Amino acid sequence: MPMYEYRCSECGSQYEQLRRMSEADRDLKCPRCGSNRVARQASACAVRGSGNSGGGGCAPGRGFS
Ligand SMILES: [Zn+2]
Repeated sequence: MPMYEYRCSECGSQYEQLRRMSEADRDLKCPRCGSNRVARQASACAVRGSGNSGGGGCAPGRGFS
């Protein structure tokens, strides 16, 4: 599951969430002020867990070998 970054345009807070790709823009809500005026930022990459899927959508070579 990829990690997404969101930013609330209401209070300006940023936060990250692990979400399914299909739900990346769904039911967005700022954890701080509860606003739904949240924009998704360029996604960070969270690769965790087992299994080698042979290259997901993540940028390679960032301290990961
Ligand atoms: Zn907010």
